[in-house]
Amino acid sequence: MTIRLVRVIDHQRRGQVGVVHGEQVVLLPYADLPEMLEDGAFEPADLLDAAESGRGEAVPLTGVPLGPPVAKPPKIVCIGLNYYDHASESGMQVPKQPILFSKYSTAIVGPGEPVVIPPVTKQVDYEVELGVVIGRRGKNIPLENALDYVFGYTICNDISARDLQFEDGQWLKGKTLDTFLPVGPAVVTSDEIPDPQALEISLERNGTVVQHASTKDMIFPVAEIVAYISLLMTLEPGDLIATGTPPGVILGQKDPLWLRPGDILRAKIEGIGELVNPVAEG
Ligand code: ZN
Repeated sequence: MTIRLVRVIDHQRRGQVGVVHGEQVVLLPYADLPEMLEDGAFEPADLLDAAESGRGEAVPLTGVPLGPPVAKPPKIVCIGLNYYDHASESGMQVPKQPILFSKYSTAIVGPGEPVVIPPVTKQVDYEVELGVVIGRRGKNIPLENALDYVFGYTICNDISARDLQFEDGQWLKGKTLDTFLPVGPAVVTSDEIPDPQALEISLERNGTVVQHASTKDMIFPVAEIVAYISLLMTLEPGDLIATGTPPGVILGQKDPLWLRPGDILRAKIEGIGELVNPVAEG
């Protein structure tokens, strides 16, 4: 059975981690994934046991609102220009080392939640990306063990305000506006995805496929990204890494039709699912 972790949101807007079990979500005693991973609860067999034992409270999967499966990662590290054709459509050189930037947890929203465009930007773009959730603490991680530090995978949409991104040489302010990081709908444990470099990845805007690629086209694969980041900083349980987007973003178009209120974005990754978010005006 594939192990999928979600975060159910209750009436008081509180989140609770749960394991999907058939049509039910079996709730675990954690408000967020970093807390669960910090507690050492990350063995897929234990999660499966928790789901199947019937001990935990279960709620129906349909009809409960889901938040982002990880809401407050200790860190969010994003990789820029990690697919060859996306680097060229952006008019950038293929990087020699992974390009790192960051987003903050205030940008995270869950499945179905709107991406809100504030008046401060006029050029908002989408970027479907494979999201990596770190399972345990690591520094100077050897490349050959790097995937052992990955707890699971999810879908990220690295929404980007291009006018702000390129205004001052730092990408930060164009990248981390509120609601600019949809994540979800679930985190799938890494044992279910033995090769993260063999996944179909796509994004539909209003039903039209605009991005469609394979994660095999990444310049720096997941293992290299994890090992490289860990040379710079300690990776911690629950850290989220967005691994870069394939070609097809609005930035690369001749006559860019930037995101508009009413647009629907459907990001898909093979083996993980679909992350759908509407666009709204702020
Ligand atoms: Zn990105």
